[in-house]
Order: sequence, then structure tokens, then C-alpha cells
Amino acid sequence: MTVSNCPRCGKIFRKLKRNICPNCVAKEDKEYEIVRDFLYDNPGAGIQTITEETGVSENQVIKFLREDRLVNVNKDSLLLDCESCGTAISNGRYCEACKARLDSDIRGVAGGGTTDRERKASSFHLRRLKDK
Ligand SMILES: [Zn+2]
Ligand SMILES: [Zn+2]
Repeated sequence: MTVSNCPRCGKIFRKLKRNICPNCVAKEDKEYEIVRDFLYDNPGAGIQTITEETGVSENQVIKFLREDRLVNVNKDSLLLDCESCGTAISNGRYCEACKARLDSDIRGVAGGGTTDRERKASSFHLRRLKDK
């Protein structure tokens, strides 16, 4: 059994899927709903507006963005870095190019089921992304 300190409230809890305690998962889900609803009513809002209007902390909003859970955010106001190459991105953890590369890496490692045709298709896809 893995026991861990909740990074949000410091409570010791049994680590399951999420790395925060069940209490904070509930709180976080609530905050996510608030932000999501706010963005639904105010599409294109910047991160500063979101934190001011919803009271949800900037770190938390960025965390949602990293988890790819938010849409309609004004991307100009966001500064996330691709975890692989450091390119500025608006959401998620990797830029499109790295996502495609990681995707084909995973498929390459998995080996077995990958046909030559699929491999060619994915390198073609990469080239098209680079040409943009
Ligand atoms: Zn907690
Ligand atoms: Zn990248």
C-alpha cells in the first residue's frame, strides 16, 4: 500500500490513481466545474480573468490546462512549455510535433503489431507537421 502526503492539504492518505487525497479530489473537481462553467459563459477568457472571476488559483487553472481539461481559454495569455522540447504551448504537456513523435515512439517500442504501412503513415504525418 502506497501512502503519500497530499500536496494540497498535507494530509496523509492512501495513494490511488490521483496524487492528491480524496478530499482534495472533490475540491479540485468542484473548482474544475467552476472554471469550466465560467469558460462556457466567457469563451476566450484569459487565465488572469479566470482566476479573478472564479477565485480558483492560477496554479490550479494551469494544472487543469496541463491535464488538457479546459477548452476556450485565451491561449495568448498562457505560457506553458512543452515538457520535451520547451516550445511554448497552450495546453497539454507536449507540443504537436513532440506528441506525434512520442506517439510513434510508443508504437515503435510496442513493435509487434506495427505494420510497415503504419510506420510510413506516421512519419509522413510528422513531415507534414514540420512543413507548417
Ligand atoms: Zn488533500
Ligand atoms: Zn515539443
